[in-house]
Amino acid sequence: MRQLWETPGGVHPPENKVQSLKLGIGHLAIPEKLILPLIQHIGDAAKPCVAIGDVVLKGQKIASASGDLSAPVHAPTSGVISAIEDRPVAHPSGMSALCIEIISDSEERWIDLYGHTDYKQLSPQEVSHLIADAGVTGLGGAGFPSAAKLDNGRTKPVNTLIINATECEPYITADDILIRERAAEIIQGIGVISHVLDMPRRILIGIESNKPEAIDALREACKSTAIEVVVVPTKYPSGGEKQLVYILTGQEIPSGQLPSDIGMVCVNSGTAFAIKRAVIDGQPLISRIMTVTGDACGINRNYEVLIGTPVSHILEKNKFIRKNCSRLIMGGPMMGFSLSSSELPVVKTTTCILAPSHSEIPEEDPQQPCIRCGLCAEACPASLLPQQLYWYAQSEDHERLQAHNLFDCIECGACSYVCPSNIPLVQYYRSSKGNIINSRNAKISAAKARERFEFRQVRLNKAEQAREVKREARRVATEKAKTSSSSAADIINAANLRAKARQASPDQQKAKLERSLMAAKMRLDEAQERLAEANKSGSAEQQAQQHASVEGARQKVEQTKRRLEELIR
Ligand code: SF4
Ligand code: SF4
Repeated sequence: MRQLWETPGGVHPPENKVQSLKLGIGHLAIPEKLILPLIQHIGDAAKPCVAIGDVVLKGQKIASASGDLSAPVHAPTSGVISAIEDRPVAHPSGMSALCIEIISDSEERWIDLYGHTDYKQLSPQEVSHLIADAGVTGLGGAGFPSAAKLDNGRTKPVNTLIINATECEPYITADDILIRERAAEIIQGIGVISHVLDMPRRILIGIESNKPEAIDALREACKSTAIEVVVVPTKYPSGGEKQLVYILTGQEIPSGQLPSDIGMVCVNSGTAFAIKRAVIDGQPLISRIMTVTGDACGINRNYEVLIGTPVSHILEKNKFIRKNCSRLIMGGPMMGFSLSSSELPVVKTTTCILAPSHSEIPEEDPQQPCIRCGLCAEACPASLLPQQLYWYAQSEDHERLQAHNLFDCIECGACSYVCPSNIPLVQYYRSSKGNIINSRNAKISAAKARERFEFRQVRLNKAEQAREVKREARRVATEKAKTSSSSAADIINAANLRAKARQASPDQQKAKLERSLMAAKMRLDEAQERLAEANKSGSAEQQAQQHASVEGARQKVEQTKRRLEELIR
């Protein structure tokens, strides 16, 4: 039997999983309209590639990835594009983002699908491209684009692939039911991932002991494969990436590093399923399994839900009674966040809609002062000092927050869960992380602006010097012309002097081209910044304009580079 390692901290909240496992995976009627946020993943928002009024087919790409760390978005059903505009999206900050709305035609007309059952004949890069093109992102966590994760893994030797099937958060059973019903397809997805990673030596599936049916299904599906199903003790949060790697291998991922830095890649079981569909069946990521649960719902169950479905549509089909609900949560009670409206859409990372009753999850009691009991530090699975982090977050002491490894916090909420003073610790950490990232970005922008200003000053000074040389040449020529009775030789000399002043030496030409190159690169930087802004909040037309301007600036850089290379040759 495989040796397991125990992580520090952790808690044992009531599981509340049985209620949503009484029925198998259900399907819902197609909603009248679907709202697709273009940022459902970590990285840059996707860029719309359709216009209002376009008729789209199920599975058709409606927004393209806009960089290496981005993911396209596809139409979850056939219909008409009815809006491309900013809408509120499901996010702890309550932010708005560019969304595409589709009015469904209820016909479910698919694009032509091209599956690759023979994916082993393709190169790992080609398979990775299929995964990227299908818009697959991590379904169990923050939504990291899967192809980027696997590509990153490929840049370093990967010896271990870990499939995360722990699903440790209370109430959520989406992975559990998916494994029970579709284990064979998950194993096929693991085969695809292994191919992309160039066949890692070890493949381990980590699953918590509270899922006996899923464990049996996995063991059955893994027969005659080298994949090892490893049952880990039930403790929250054993499903954190760093925590699971440690439990299964005893190896710690150093602060600020990724599993790939120690030769491992960790992928959620639901993501493995989505990868199977993307590569073998040719289907983009347009739906996911999610749990709908809580006492305010008459039916607790898992559904295969189209991405973009408004939460209200799901609740309506689950006999939801609004007055019985204390608050609507997207995700689980530990890591989820309250929804400001039931009209917000399901996204690729939505694992659960939790509608608890007032007695089930009561309104939060008011926050009290910290009594320095130390329970939060005991519960922390990342061995942090939550109480200290709380003090520094309150005083906005960014330096100390980083020195105390704030960015190692996995936002599991175990510290908030045990805090007798009801301090919403994890909310302080989330907000501090956001502030630190914003201030880092502001510093980078300020440094770039300063660089641009200094460069402009140098350019202006040089231009002034050049003008001065010309003025002097003209003055000397005029003097000579006056004093030497305009001899032909003097006139020629003056002309030569002027020509010389105009004609730069090779060194001067090189310096001039280098300055032009630097200026062109800066204009490219500026254009890229404007494009990123437009992608975040601009209209489709503004995005197209900025895209063209980036292209123009890029061509200018290339042209100048070529001229410089020719001169040097
Ligand atoms: S658990 Fe709460 S009260 Fe106790 S030390 Fe931590 S923050 Fe303070
Ligand atoms: S939320 Fe962060 S600080 Fe709190 S227990 Fe989890 S990892 Fe530790």
